[in-house]
Amino acid sequence: MISNLNFLVNSIKDQVIFWRRHLHQNPEVSYHEGATSQFIYRTLLAFGNLEVTQPTKTSVMARLIGKRSGKVIAIRADMDALPIQEDTTVDYASHNPGVMHACGHDAHIAMLLGVAKIFCSMQGNITGELRFIFQHAEELFPPGGAEELVEAGVMDGVDAIIGGHVWTPLEIGKVGLTYGPMMASPDSFYITIKGKGGHGAMPHQTIDAILVGAEVVVNLQHIVSRNIDPIDQVVISVCRFVGGTTNNIIPNKVQIDGTIRTLDPKLRQKVPLLLERIVKGVTSAHGADYDLKIVQGYRQVINDERVVRVLEETVREVMGDAAIEFVHPSMGAEDFSAYQQKAPGAFFFIGGGNKEKGYVYPHHHPCFMIDEDALQIGMKIFIQAAIKLLA
Ligand SMILES: [Zn+2]
Ligand SMILES: [Zn+2]
Repeated sequence: MISNLNFLVNSIKDQVIFWRRHLHQNPEVSYHEGATSQFIYRTLLAFGNLEVTQPTKTSVMARLIGKRSGKVIAIRADMDALPIQEDTTVDYASHNPGVMHACGHDAHIAMLLGVAKIFCSMQGNITGELRFIFQHAEELFPPGGAEELVEAGVMDGVDAIIGGHVWTPLEIGKVGLTYGPMMASPDSFYITIKGKGGHGAMPHQTIDAILVGAEVVVNLQHIVSRNIDPIDQVVISVCRFVGGTTNNIIPNKVQIDGTIRTLDPKLRQKVPLLLERIVKGVTSAHGADYDLKIVQGYRQVINDERVVRVLEETVREVMGDAAIEFVHPSMGAEDFSAYQQKAPGAFFFIGGGNKEKGYVYPHHHPCFMIDEDALQIGMKIFIQAAIKLLA
């Protein structure tokens, strides 16, 4: 561990908390991060030795070029808030009605600003380049901000990338690591069942879209329970079923929408085919017809073994062995996966919950709040891991 890491992080602790609270008070939703990106841009410029650019309208990238050439290591923070009315009692609660940093991206920005500031003070000792990516629109897909930033070239020349998420399901002081697949691909399906409408009293003159739709819903669960190896992970959830207008009319169509989650790129290709086979079979068995649209979301977050190992070593050094929590993959999604297409990368969780202080709410909840000690922990891990990756 660099000898003065604790000192360096501690010396800017109050400033980082101040940044985080300012951002928390002024949240902006995906693709509207105008003031947020300007705040980041100005703060980074003031550090003096960064090359700061805006790859897209509301994102910011900063490069710190070391004294000697070497590897390029990127660290990513997302910066968007959510359309949620905040319901906390903190004095820095959101000033923007209906908008809240309810996922902790305010903490991500503040940490990365802090990390950039500390690295600026060490520029003379750096071999290689550090790249700080402040990404817009993580919460909104498709396409999501990461894909756009990759297209804008932020990953050009990058040798490895790391990203972290403050995480309230993990207690403060814990760090969550996962080797290999960590988060799922969230693909959406939209099925229209097309029958023939008519009077509820004369079903024989109709093709009942509601009944056919109900059978489709039930049969879709055969995919996970009977077509997929039980050792593999797939989720298919029907989350919307809409049809009909009143109690005595059989409608001519029904809309069935849902989500498909997998941790495996091959299954991601296979499941839509199985899904269509069922929709096609059930509808044709009853003389109905269908439309099916599949919209692909983010790719799976699949962590690179070597980069996770660096994070594991880092956490053991910075926090001690007891801090490490190997977490199960989640069927949630993250567009960090876009960067992993371009360079080995790893995503990890920084414990931010605290039962004693009442920070127990899940992400995207109106009472969501994190333990701000997570900011220092996250900074130490980013700094130490980046130094190891540069070496
Ligand atoms: Zn979120
Ligand atoms: Zn998030």
